[in-house]
Amino acid sequence: MQIVLLGPPGSGKGTLASDLVRIYKIAHISTGDIFRKNIKEKTPLGLEAEGYISQGMLVPDSVTIGMVEDRLIQPDCNAGFMLDGFPRTLPQAEALTTVLERRRQPLTAVLNISVSDGTVVKRLSSRRVCSGCGRSYNVYSLIPKIEGICDVCGAAIIQRADDLPETILQRLRTYYDQTLPLVQYYTDLGLLIEVNNEGAVGSSTDFVKGQLDARLAQEQA
Ligand code: AMP
Repeated sequence: MQIVLLGPPGSGKGTLASDLVRIYKIAHISTGDIFRKNIKEKTPLGLEAEGYISQGMLVPDSVTIGMVEDRLIQPDCNAGFMLDGFPRTLPQAEALTTVLERRRQPLTAVLNISVSDGTVVKRLSSRRVCSGCGRSYNVYSLIPKIEGICDVCGAAIIQRADDLPETILQRLRTYYDQTLPLVQYYTDLGLLIEVNNEGAVGSSTDFVKGQLDARLAQEQA
């Protein structure tokens, strides 16, 4: 099963992806996580990406496409994968189509996760993340047992630099300008599944699983 998750920042892509990769036992490829790991380790890729990310801009296609192509040839992708945060531009989507045709591993579906702009701003400004394992928290709805400390790994909980208010608005603008056209691209390919993710965390997982199981059954028929 090969899935793409589309949707604005804060739409809950990461949480939904974590649920689905566990259910379907496929690789989880989050381009945002790959960039953040490289920034933390101060690799050349991280140093290049950091400036764009902190301003809410996209890392250039020339960097991002090659990075994902390298990831897709890892053996754990043979059984399927979930792309979380890629593609985000039309050239990225076209490059992905070409690579997957070459690998004879076509997309099963593209999930278009939608939430209102108001929800995006509220979720991202109240989001906190673990600096160690990356687990998400929320100052209103998902509070750690000990303030400031991750329940899972004990590292410090922080606010992502790109979750500050002015950067959130820039990320939304970037999404509308550069990523929204992909909804039409994947609709035309007959791959799009609409997912309303306005509700509580995790509330759309069962709906999505039903849709994906139906697609798989169609493929196998
Ligand atoms: P995310 O964690 O998916 O919200 O990604 C965080 C940031 O990483 C984005 O705001 C972009 O700056 C960068 N990024 C992630 N994925 C991509 C991509 N496919 N193309 C370009 N930049 C990306």
